[in-house]
Amino acid sequence: MNLYIPKETESGETRIPVLPEAVKKLAGLGATVQVEPGIGDALQIPDSAFSDAGAEVVTDPAAALGAADIVLRLNKPSGPEGLKEGAIHISYLDPFNDLETVKKFAEAKVSAICMEMIPRTTIAQKMDALSSQASLAGYAAVLQAAAKLPRSLPMMMTPAGTLSPCKVFIIGAGVAGLQAIATAKRLGARVEAFDTRPVVKEQVESLGAKFLQIDLGEMGETTGGYAKELTAEQIAKQKEAQGKAIAKADIVITTAKLFGRPAPRLIDDAQVAAMTPGSVIVDMAAGSGGNVEGSEPDKDVVLHGVTVIGDTNLEGRVPYDASQMYGSNMVNLVQHFWDDEAKSFNLDLEDEIVQGALLTHGGEVIHNMIKERISA
Ligand code: NAD
Repeated sequence: MNLYIPKETESGETRIPVLPEAVKKLAGLGATVQVEPGIGDALQIPDSAFSDAGAEVVTDPAAALGAADIVLRLNKPSGPEGLKEGAIHISYLDPFNDLETVKKFAEAKVSAICMEMIPRTTIAQKMDALSSQASLAGYAAVLQAAAKLPRSLPMMMTPAGTLSPCKVFIIGAGVAGLQAIATAKRLGARVEAFDTRPVVKEQVESLGAKFLQIDLGEMGETTGGYAKELTAEQIAKQKEAQGKAIAKADIVITTAKLFGRPAPRLIDDAQVAAMTPGSVIVDMAAGSGGNVEGSEPDKDVVLHGVTVIGDTNLEGRVPYDASQMYGSNMVNLVQHFWDDEAKSFNLDLEDEIVQGALLTHGGEVIHNMIKERISA
């Protein structure tokens, strides 16, 4: 089987789809691995490192794309142009915001596996790019905030006087939020957090942070482990109860997301205004609707003296590790479905991971949730 990995084309992307070590594993399966020249440019990794790992650095990228049985990418491409019928395409696809591209993949008879839709199950954990990237993004969020904050995070006792530890408030303690809590704690901050899923309290406390108790009545989580959408009254109650924690925080990091739906608006302009000037908010949901009023995707804005960071690619601030993890997620996926005898990818339509992540196949959009969105 021909497996082709093109160079990323998304502007501003600092990550690459695979590191040479991932290529080595793919070549070890017996696949013919081809890569586009310059694939490692963003990380200053030379083409020779990819050829040393067992890949052919092609001279005609268009021909390699057209001949590929499997294509591995990071970001969503503009469409399936240049791919042959029956090819398997694995990448992010952002299907909830871009159904048109999904339809184009179906029309081109390409089987599109969407990395965002890998089920959150134990067996699929090693392929779960949302988690691997969210974890790094949570870490980077704290570092970005710390770099903007005109204060240091830990308590410092010096002959000149004592500096009190800075206060960090984290809304949403999923994968990104927990990593942000751990990072802020390591830097010596005093950390408080809130999440609507009650199971999270213990996890927050085990990291040494305080869990803010807010009684919102019926909450819970979906079978997939995601948060349920709150009612307007519950959101109003949450906003009020968080008010004090936000006003006294030096750094607020919001990570609250709802799978497949816009993020809830949890901090309004008056709450930003109530913070001390110089404080910093990182809105990790800025790209999916925003948790904070006034935040803008991929911009830092200053509102009432508070810097609001809307970076939508925080994981791209640690691009080497993010590329390593994303590449491993894809390699684990390919390995999981690899037929060693036939030396080919076995796209088993009865498998629950395939059923969760395969959006198009045989000329059709076959994923139930996406089909519903298309016909809605
Ligand atoms: P996410 O990115 O969808 O959301 C981030 C967090 O925001 C979640 O913890 C969510 O509960 C929280 N949130 C939503 N609305 C909120 C609100 N109004 N106020 C405060 N917080 C709010 O979620 P995620 O981090 O990708 O994952 C969530 C959970 O899914 C994990 O913690 C875990 O339990 C589960 N999960 C399981 C696996 C697995 O089993 N393989 C993998 C990853 C995640």
